[in-house]
Amino acid sequence: MICTKCGELMAQTDKNTFSGRVIREYTCHKCGHTDWEDDGVALWQVLHDAREKDETVAAERSTESGPNPQPDTAQPAEVAPATLRQRLLSLFSKNK
Ligand SMILES: [Zn+2]
Repeated sequence: MICTKCGELMAQTDKNTFSGRVIREYTCHKCGHTDWEDDGVALWQVLHDAREKDETVAAERSTESGPNPQPDTAQPAEVAPATLRQRLLSLFSKNK
């Protein structure tokens, strides 16, 4: 990434995937300018989506193969870090 202030090549200082997208942070060592760029969907988000898709397919298959009144309750949390949405869901479940 090129510094927008002085044109120097900026050094990557951090990489965040908290939002499900890869955000790379850069710092210019010449003038101290910091910037960031969106580098697309984070790998764990891709894996998470793929896993949910697999579970949907598996559920459809089990329905086809016969009655199954107790569907699996797999926890995707082992793949993805706790998200704000998951924390909110856990709060709602506690209020029941
Ligand atoms: Zn600079």
